[in-house]
Amino acid sequence: MKNNKNLRTWLNKMELAHPLVIAGPCSAESEAQVLTIAHQLKKTDATVLRAGIWKPRTRPGNFEGVGEIGLKWLKKAKDETGMLTATEVANPTHVELALKNEVDVLWIGARSTVSPFIVQEIAEALKGTDKIVLVKNPVNPDLALWLGAVERLHTSNIEKLGVIHRGFSTYEKTRYRNNPEWQIPIDLQNQFPDLPLILDPSHIAGRRDIIFDLCQTALDLNFDGLMIETHNDPDNAWSDAKQQITPNVLEKLTVDLRVRVEEGDAIEYRNKIANLRTRIDVIDHKLTEILGKRMNIADEIGTLKKENNVAILQSKRWNEILEKMILDGKENKLSEEFVLKIYKAIHQESINHQKRIVNG
Ligand code: PEP
Ligand code: MN
Repeated sequence: MKNNKNLRTWLNKMELAHPLVIAGPCSAESEAQVLTIAHQLKKTDATVLRAGIWKPRTRPGNFEGVGEIGLKWLKKAKDETGMLTATEVANPTHVELALKNEVDVLWIGARSTVSPFIVQEIAEALKGTDKIVLVKNPVNPDLALWLGAVERLHTSNIEKLGVIHRGFSTYEKTRYRNNPEWQIPIDLQNQFPDLPLILDPSHIAGRRDIIFDLCQTALDLNFDGLMIETHNDPDNAWSDAKQQITPNVLEKLTVDLRVRVEEGDAIEYRNKIANLRTRIDVIDHKLTEILGKRMNIADEIGTLKKENNVAILQSKRWNEILEKMILDGKENKLSEEFVLKIYKAIHQESINHQKRIVNG
């Protein structure tokens, strides 16, 4: 963490806590709710209070945010607690109102990052401010689009820029509300090591029980901060009720997280090895997931063969697969011996699956 931090100059200069913890409700609901949460957060590591004022809803008819009045509540919370404040802006009017009400951190939401027109308008409205601006990834897994938004803000002379990883939409239902696709923020970090990277585990998880693990993975990958939806009464929140946690739970969570901030050679080694191991874990998880998907297709083939009374093993097809995979392997610097071993095992598992179907 320390190593990366040296490059992340604006964040270091501001001397905010490390990792930076942004917490607060998905949406501002009332003055009392915003102030209660802000005061409860004072005993946690959070230094920035978040609250959505204008809410982008997938379907119309849901709660769409309290609007401008909520900015006054944020200002009051800032005056009473000394926390910085943060909200989402999705058009130039939002920017103007947020600046007028002294919001410190403005973020661009996932649904806005997908639109270069909107991002350009926001970037122009922000020209000349020295506010912190954070860009959430677009809803679709597209690194270029994410970076494009960052570039537009950079061209508008925004110096205090950072990015928020909040996961990506998938049509297929997974255990996540938004799939983390860790490889994308890892690639971003490799290309732009001095761009502060913050995790939003709440919108990735969509539920409470996996927020801690997501945060730990992010810290092991050298993320610089966390944005965690926090509410005094999560079950009765007006939006995203399932994923919000209480300030008490947040406090415990940040105590339990392993943050690597010590100095020295051994620590540097441990940080690096933890980072590399987490990257391997991410890939291993993908590998088993993809093998599982391959076997599901083998099951379908089994059913089809059973219905048509066809033999399970067709050696011509199998030899074709092997030849193709040996070539693919070469392109990826994998030895023929290794590819053969792996594919023999995969093929055997696939036959076992088909046998179960045909005989079952
Ligand atoms: C939010 O932070 O409340 C939000 C709407 O996030 P996202 O843009 O990531 O969906
Ligand atoms: Mn939310």
